[in-house]
Amino acid sequence: MSQYLEGGCQCGSIRYRLSGAPLLAALCHCSMCRRASAAPAVAWAMYEQGQLEFESAELTVYESSPGALRGFCPRCGTQISFRADYLPGLVDITIGSLDDPAKVEPTFHYWDAERLPWVEFADRLPRHAEFPPLG
Ligand SMILES: [Zn+2]
Ligand SMILES: [Zn+2]
Repeated sequence: MSQYLEGGCQCGSIRYRLSGAPLLAALCHCSMCRRASAAPAVAWAMYEQGQLEFESAELTVYESSPGALRGFCPRCGTQISFRADYLPGLVDITIGSLDDPAKVEPTFHYWDAERLPWVEFADRLPRHAEFPPLG
């Protein structure tokens, strides 16, 4: 993996840069991610906040549940980030907003308990009913 990854929203107002490798990358099937992105599932990569640098306009933040902040482009609506009180110092970035999403490959599924019955990814990655313990 190259040292830097870049990404942004659909309209180009939001641009960011990530340094180094993610702590983890996974597919979330929870109903909140589904609604926020209007997509069947969302692929997230988790980083330490120090690895993330914005080079552009500010994200607009929506508190989707208490202490959980979803960042998106105020112009085009692309969901970019997720931060939560229970993940201090960490930030999730949508893999789909990377310029080259193929470079970050999810290694498990989580919130599989809320997965839509017609969503079947053809992989053999581990599946967790909710979020697995970190570390
Ligand atoms: Zn945008
Ligand atoms: Zn989720």
